[in-house]
Amino acid sequence: MNTYLSGIQSSGLLHLGNWFGAMRPHIALQEMEGEHFYFIADYHALTTSRDPEGLKQNVREAAVAYLAMGLDPKRVTFWRQSDAPQVTELAWMLSCVTGMGLFERAHSYKDKIAKGAKPNVGLFTYPALMAADILAFDPTHVPVGADQKQHVEMTQDMAASFNAAFDAEVFRRPEPIIESDDRLAKVVGTDGQKMSKSYGNTIWLFETGKGLKKAVNQITTDSRPPEEPKDPASVLLFRFLELFLEPGELTEWEVRVREGGADAPGYGHLKGRLIEIIEETFREGRERREELLGDPAEVDRVLAAGAERAIERATLVRDRALEACGLR
Ligand code: ATP
Ligand code: MG
Repeated sequence: MNTYLSGIQSSGLLHLGNWFGAMRPHIALQEMEGEHFYFIADYHALTTSRDPEGLKQNVREAAVAYLAMGLDPKRVTFWRQSDAPQVTELAWMLSCVTGMGLFERAHSYKDKIAKGAKPNVGLFTYPALMAADILAFDPTHVPVGADQKQHVEMTQDMAASFNAAFDAEVFRRPEPIIESDDRLAKVVGTDGQKMSKSYGNTIWLFETGKGLKKAVNQITTDSRPPEEPKDPASVLLFRFLELFLEPGELTEWEVRVREGGADAPGYGHLKGRLIEIIEETFREGRERREELLGDPAEVDRVLAAGAERAIERATLVRDRALEACGLR
């Protein structure tokens, strides 16, 4: 039987990049035969968060966003990472068989430092917690963004080191599932770089009305007039439209932009269509989100039920590890 597992960051409002690159594929996988485990990575968020109220809000926001967009807690064990603390015990055991060099090679650590983050020890040993998060549930498959591929490989290495060190089959080797379509794996932001919270170029998934108009207006354009024929590849707005439009409609817009002339749409038209389709795509999700925000007890209930199942599973694996290394 396949077991799918993935984590969700809880460090801010989820944006279109998170949607296409992580949330949508996660939610789609629940249709696959097998077991499904998804957690909200609040311990990970603590590597940078110094705002208790903000952290709580972000956890709720992530939970609500996933549920609003169709995550089915009957099919998926959905919980908050810190509710199953067995992973922190496993993280310790795994870090005791891991060389410093492995952590030093982590891209995400190097990137965060390059962006000016103060290197705390938690940030440095993050891959051990991530390995524990994964291995605690014996998953066969781990759907992750391209940016997390290295962490899954590190997880495989740590699992193998632990098994070899204690000559026991404690941890199963998980395989990553990575989106191969670059448009989805690397959704662009309003400035044309990869969409990222830390670049301030995001569009919030549930943005609507004036806020959405403002965000879409931020998408970089140039001063070429509508009638000038243009290669659609040179128009950043198309990187957004292609995420949403049916292929037939997309082609129509592309043809008109390529041909130019009096009938060609200007950037304002393209933006108008983009706003419309974003409103439409997430309308139901926005409504469901409002409902869930108004019923926090329901969200708490879902997370508590998930935590119970997660603890049960993680305890089995934790006990296997304790025994293998002689702590029990
Ligand atoms: P930060 O700037 O702090 O790194 P972020 O905006 O990049 O934040 P993450 O929390 O790193 O968001 O992303 C969570 C997951 O969402 C990633 O592992 C990846 O799968 C997906 N993701 C993030 N940004 C994009 C993007 N632009 N395109 C596709 N997927 C993305
Ligand atoms: Mg990122």
